[in-house]
Amino acid sequence: MDYEKLRKRMVKEQIVTREIKDKRVIDAFLKVERHRFVPQDLINTAYGDFPLPIGEGQTISQPYIVALMTEELRLEGGERVLEIGTGSGYQAAILAQLCSQVYTIERITSLAKRAQILLKELNYNNIIVKLGDGTVGLSEEAPFDRIMVTAATQRTPPALIEQLKDGGRLLLPLGNSFSQVLTLVEKQANHLNSRSICNCVFVPLIGKC
Ligand code: SAM
Repeated sequence: MDYEKLRKRMVKEQIVTREIKDKRVIDAFLKVERHRFVPQDLINTAYGDFPLPIGEGQTISQPYIVALMTEELRLEGGERVLEIGTGSGYQAAILAQLCSQVYTIERITSLAKRAQILLKELNYNNIIVKLGDGTVGLSEEAPFDRIMVTAATQRTPPALIEQLKDGGRLLLPLGNSFSQVLTLVEKQANHLNSRSICNCVFVPLIGKC
């Protein structure tokens, strides 16, 4: 399989044509080898236009959704980013191309371990994987410039709002298991402004929320 060719096609047909414009985001998608983050038996479908199962009833999101969420964070390079829901580690690897430090939290031990081993093997030195409940955030490393939640919740976990810097951006799918809206929350002078981006489907966020 020519994965580089498949990756270029994925970027052209699924990401650029759907109006993802940030050149840095596009370059990150060209660089990160998505096929390394999916189960071996699904490797030939790694660049398809859909989410894939990664075990434990969890998923790696569709490439376009990963790109849209990444672009909405508007990363410039120096940010410290918290991701809730490591899953395969793919989103964290994309973020790591675009900011200075990524902290990512996963509640399922086998997924956290697998992602940690893979990200180390791929030499991602600016990603720290933590095992635990991401709804309480990571107070010892807070505040964060950006926070991304990759699982669906009915309400924004208060700890994440507290741990977001003033001027920061928090992105999360809000809603129940049937209907969710990808939502951007911006903190300005300790006020929160929310904007709906699009409908989406994510696995549930399980924890204190
Ligand atoms: N970002 C992932 C990737 O790139 O593969 C996809 C994430 S998957 C859609 C959602 C993940 O959130 C699952 O792995 C799930 O176990 C995790 N999760 C759910 N609730 C969580 C919580 N409270 N804390 C941390 N992880 C959680």
